[in-house]
This record gives sequence, C-alpha cells and structure tokens, in this order.
Amino acid sequence: MSKQQLAVERARRAFRTGRSKPLEYRIQQLKNLLRLFEERQKDIADALKKDLNKSEHGVPLYETLGLEGEIQLAVKKLKEWAAPRPVAKTLMTISDEVYIHPEPLGVVLIIGAWNYPWAVTIQPLIGAIAAGNAAVIKPSEVCVHTAKVMEDLLPVYIDKELYPVVTGGVPETQELLKQRFDHVFYTGNCAVGRIVMEAASRHLSPVTLELGGKSPCYIDKNCDLSVACRRITWGKYTNCGQTCIAPDYVLCDPSIQDKVIEEISKNVTDFYTENPKTCPDYGRIINQRHFKRVMALTEDSTVALGGNGDEAECYIAPTVLRDVKPEAKVMQEEIFGPLLPILTVGSVDEAIDFINDREKPLALYVFSHDSKLIKRMRDETSSGGFLANDCLMHFSVNDLPFGGVGNSGIGAYHGKHSFDQLSHLRGCLVKQLKMEGMNNMRYPPHTADKLGWARFFILKEGAVVKTFKLAALAVLVILAAAVIQVRVSWFH
Ligand code: NAD
Repeated sequence: MSKQQLAVERARRAFRTGRSKPLEYRIQQLKNLLRLFEERQKDIADALKKDLNKSEHGVPLYETLGLEGEIQLAVKKLKEWAAPRPVAKTLMTISDEVYIHPEPLGVVLIIGAWNYPWAVTIQPLIGAIAAGNAAVIKPSEVCVHTAKVMEDLLPVYIDKELYPVVTGGVPETQELLKQRFDHVFYTGNCAVGRIVMEAASRHLSPVTLELGGKSPCYIDKNCDLSVACRRITWGKYTNCGQTCIAPDYVLCDPSIQDKVIEEISKNVTDFYTENPKTCPDYGRIINQRHFKRVMALTEDSTVALGGNGDEAECYIAPTVLRDVKPEAKVMQEEIFGPLLPILTVGSVDEAIDFINDREKPLALYVFSHDSKLIKRMRDETSSGGFLANDCLMHFSVNDLPFGGVGNSGIGAYHGKHSFDQLSHLRGCLVKQLKMEGMNNMRYPPHTADKLGWARFFILKEGAVVKTFKLAALAVLVILAAAVIQVRVSWFH
C-alpha cells in the first residue's frame, strides 16, 4: 500500500469512528488550529521568506490574519450553521417536519497552490473541519519550506489521523487522486484543474476547483485616477503579481493612458521605493521557470515602466506595458507576475465586448464614479466575483462566496459558504403514521376523482393558503369585535 493510500485509509477509518462529528470536537480542533497561528508565526514567516521573499508583516496581513478571522467566525457560528434548517411548509406537508440537515461528506482531499500557500490550503481545511469531515491535506510542493512547516506543525495541533498532511509533487498528487474521496478541493491552474476533475469523476466525487484566469480592470475616464491607480498598483504588485485575483490587464480610454501610467509609477515608488529590488515588501517570482515565462510575455509589447529583471534572484521589476494589442503574448495567458498591460478601448461597449469575447474571469474590476456604469458592467458581463472601485478586497469578506465561474472554477467557499460547500445538505421529511386518509389520492386504483384532489393540493396551494389566511383574519376581527363589545357593556 502506498504512503498516500495509507493516509487516506487511516483518515477514512478515523472518520468512521464518528469523532469528527460532535460540534464540540470540531470547535476544539478549530481552536487548536488557531493556536498554531498564534504560537508559530515565526516558523511560518521564516519559511515564507525563503519561499517567496514575503515580509515579516506581509505574512500575517496576506496569509494568516484572514485564516484566524475565518476560524473565529466558524467557532462562533458553527452551532447555527450545523442546525437543521426548516423549509416552508405546503398543504401536503402541513403536519410534518420538513428541514435541511447539513451532514459531513466524509474524507475531503485538499490540494493547495503555492502563491498564498497557507491561505489557500488552510481556508478549505477550516470549512472541512467545521463541516465535520476528515481531510487529507496536500500542500504545494513548490513552496518547499512552507510544505515542510505544514507537515511538521499541523499534526502537533490537530488530529493527525483525521487531518493528515501528505507532501510530495506531481506523482504523489496523482497517486492521491487515484483514491476515493467524498470531495476534492483543488486550488491551482486550469490545466491541472482538468486532470483533477477527470480523476475525481472516476469515483463520482464532487469537486471544488479554485482556478485562475485573466481578471480585467476597466477604468472609466471620469474617475479619480489617483485613488484608482493607487488601489490597482496595490492589487497588481502585491506578492509580485502572483495573486489569482490580481487585476491582470487594464482597459481604458486612450485619453487617460498616460495619466494611468504616471499614477501607477508614482505609487510603485511610494510603496516599494525607487529600487523595489531592495524593498522588503516587494516579493520574488517563485522560481526560474516562472521568471523566464513572465519575462518572455513582455517581448512583443512596449514597456512604459520597469521591464527589467534579475534571473539569479527571480526579481522582476513592477512593470507597465502600454498600447498592448489583444494579440500580444501577454494577453494569451494568465500573467501571474508583476506585468500590467494597458489596452485602450474607445467605449464601455467595446470594453464589455472585449471581456465577453474571452473566458469568464475569476474577478472583474471597474473603477468609476458612475453607479449606472458600474451596474451595467455587472449586468452585461460574468465573472467569479465583481468589485467596483477597489482590488482584491472581496476575498476578505467572509459572507461573500469566493470562487470562479466557467473557466475560472467550480464551487465557492469562505465563511458559511465553505461549510455548505463541504457538507451534504440532506433534505429531511419526517411524517407521522396518522392521517392516512390524506394519502388515498396517490394510491391505486388511480381515478379521476383522486387526480382532482391531487391537482387541488399541488396546484391550488396559493389559493387555498390565501383563503385560509383570509378566514383566519376574519375570525380574528370577529373575536376582537366581540371582546370590545363585552368591555363596553362592562363599562356601562
Ligand atoms: P501548483 O504548481 O502549486 O499546483 C497546485 C497543486 O497541483 C499542487 O499541489 C501540485 O502538487 C498539484 N499538481 C501540479 N501538477 C499536477 C499534475 N500534473 N497532476 C496532479 N497534480 C498536480 O500551483 P499553480 O497551479 O502554479 O498555481 C497557480 C495557479 O493557481 C494560478 O492560475 C492561480 O490563478 C491559481 N490560483 C487560484 C486561486 C483561487 O482561489 N481561485 C488561488 C491561488 C491560485
């Protein structure tokens, strides 16, 4: 039996004991996980410094604070999320119990990506624990140091049989994918997303695919460019552009292109100094393969800012490309690096057509003072998430489902959405063994009379309920009138 098979077997056996199900146990495990972040910040930060040159304060800001918030929310709300959810009754179910009962799915496989390795691996784990599942955790091998820290620390804090960490690269992940899971939660690129979905389909396992793509950013010429460009600069160059929801490219009117470039340059200097290479808050490209890939994307476009890099250090300067053509290399794939192409469009209609001609993105950004324009962009396009006048921030709103649509992914999570995504929402109808007469209309022999009753119960529901309500109201009015009359007669 392979190491991966063993881990899955053990997790399944642990799940079958039932210990992941009581709410107190789930809460205890979540609190233990929270302690890991409180006590082991240094181990986490040291590894991320080596893997991605993440800064000391950047690590909590972009990786662990959000996780701590998610855990706190889950601990606070778990009882409410896990409780049976009553649904509306009909004439047919008036005397029954009708509700949705969330139940754990079983063993979940979580495959993480490297760009925010804690955030994208542990956030689904929080949902899996909260929903009462076991989970096999496969961190990305690309962040060598972080994967090791996860492998070492997670078993110290949480149940190592229910939530084992399995490390390794492509062969190990593929071995894992041969196993049967009750859900596969994958974060990463679209090509591997297809492999994951194919493997999961062999067991009919449901999947969540958190993928990427090219997220457009439309800037209206009448907006406050200085604020807009500050927010875009932050959204683009954080983590050296290696953010799944980074604004991939800008669409704007030709008349504002120069101003956009000027403002972005100003903000790059404000955020990362004249020499971003020596700035502790400016990250690095994950490896030389990606360095070469990203640098090659600039080849057939005009550089307006940056454009230089240092292969030995995997450093690429914050870069803006101007007058970029739709056929340019940089427009053929998700950039996932610190390049911001600007494409000019003559109108909002052209921008909307440009977006709709392409795959549905993970995020869509629009900057404008005009609420009608914002609504138009929302209504005439489609994307995983939609954000007006800012970048990335929708990720941090726990109540919003986070996920893609079409090519950018399947399923969504965060907050209660993670709980629901990793639960089976079981429909429950509990009837009593009385009132058998009511059921005659569905038992053979089927007759026109019985069909008439069935038609009445199924189709006249609204009318009957309305009649009931009116009758109840009439009774109340009569009762109130009677009470008033009695009081008046006493008074006299
Ligand atoms: P990656 O290379 O770390 O791969 C992700 C996981 O897939 C790893 O655990 C790896 O072991 C596994 N894997 C890789 N190749 C495989 C194969 N052939 N068969 C089976 N498993 C395989 O990460 P990546 O894909 O380079 O991550 C970057 C991508 O992830 C970008 O497209 C980005 O937009 C996307 N992303 C999306 C989100 C989101 O929340 N939607 C978050 C982060 C990253």
